[in-house]
Amino acid sequence: MARSRRYWIAKGWGRVDEGRRQVLGWTGLITVSLALTFGLSVAIAHFVVEAPALVPSEEASYLARHGRRCLDRVADPDVEPAGAFPQFWVRLGEEDCTPGSWLAQFREFGQTMEQYRAEGPNRAELDAPIALGVMGDFRVRGEQGRDLVEPVREFLGLYFQREALLESPVALPPAAWNPERGAAGQYDAEALLSVLKGSCADSRAGCLTVTDEDLYVNTLQYVFGLGHFHRRVGVFSMYRLWEDVHNPETGTTAAAREPEPLRRALKVAVHEMGHEFTVAHCVHYRHCVMAGTNSLSESDAGSLMLCPLDHEKLRWNLHFDPRVRFEKLAEFGRRYGLHREARYWQEMANSMPLAPNAAGGAL
Ligand SMILES: [Zn+2]
Ligand SMILES: [Zn+2]
Repeated sequence: MARSRRYWIAKGWGRVDEGRRQVLGWTGLITVSLALTFGLSVAIAHFVVEAPALVPSEEASYLARHGRRCLDRVADPDVEPAGAFPQFWVRLGEEDCTPGSWLAQFREFGQTMEQYRAEGPNRAELDAPIALGVMGDFRVRGEQGRDLVEPVREFLGLYFQREALLESPVALPPAAWNPERGAAGQYDAEALLSVLKGSCADSRAGCLTVTDEDLYVNTLQYVFGLGHFHRRVGVFSMYRLWEDVHNPETGTTAAAREPEPLRRALKVAVHEMGHEFTVAHCVHYRHCVMAGTNSLSESDAGSLMLCPLDHEKLRWNLHFDPRVRFEKLAEFGRRYGLHREARYWQEMANSMPLAPNAAGGAL
C-alpha cells in the first residue's frame, strides 16, 4: 500500500560528482515535499561521507539554487519548554545555515508537535521493549567494536525509557556485500534495511541493528546509518567512530579518544531510533540530536540531547517520567565519562517536578 513507499533523504556530502549532487539535492527536496503533501511513509538516511567533508559548490547548495532563506517555512515550536530547558536551548536561525551545513544543503520543514501527532507516528505499547541486534562478527573492529554494544544497549534503554533487549547476532547477508566499493568492499545499507524489514516483532517498540562493517548507499561513499520512519527498523555502523576529531574553530585535528567513539555511537543510535518513532529532522533548536548533519565534524558539533520539542514528542509517545529519565541518563554519563552531558542531564533532572506519587503526600 501507499504507506510502504520509501523515500530517502541524503545526509552528507563529499567526493561525488556534480550529477550526483544534483540528484541528491533533488532527492531531499522531493522527499520532504511528498512526505508533507501526501503524508507518505518516509525513510531517513543518516549519511556521513568520506572525510574530509568538502564544502559543496555554491551551485549545488539549496540556498544558491533557490535563493531563499533556509528556515523560511519552519513553524514555531508549539511546546512550552518546562524546567531548565529554556536556559540551554537556542532557536535555530538563518546564521546556522552556513556553507556546507546540512541546512544549507537540504530543504527542511521541521515537525511541530501538532504535525507529529497528525502524522500518525509509530506508537509504542506501554510495556513494549526496544531491541538492539548485531549483524556480523566484528571482523573489522574486533573487541573495540564488541565492547561498545553493551553501553549502546543500556543507553538506548535509558534514553527511550524502555527495557532494551540484546538480540542474538545474525549473519550479514552476502548479497549486500559489494567488493567494488570502498577501500576493501562495503555493505549496501539499503539492502541490509530491506533484510531487516519485517524482522521487528510486534512485541517490540523498535529494533535497531549495529554492525562494524562499512556501509554505503548508491549515491554516497559511506553512511553512518539508516532509520525507517514507520517500519520500526534501523541499522548503523561502528566503522567510522574512531576517525580523528576535527575542531573547526582551531582548524586542528586530534585522535578520537574515549569517550568520543562511544559518544558518536550513542548519537547515531539515538538519532536512528528517534526516526523509528517518526521524529523528523529537527530545525527548531540548535544542536538537537535529531538535527541532520552534513559531515562528521558537523555531527561532532551537535549534541546527544533532545531539544524541548523532540523531548516532548518522545515523552508523549513513550509515556516516560522526565525526571526519572534525566536522573538515569546523568548516572550513565558520569559512569562513562560523558561529563558535559551528565551535568546537563543532572541539571534537567533537578529542575523537573517530582512525579505526584513520589512526593510523599498522603493519598
Ligand atoms: Zn536522520
Ligand atoms: Zn529537536
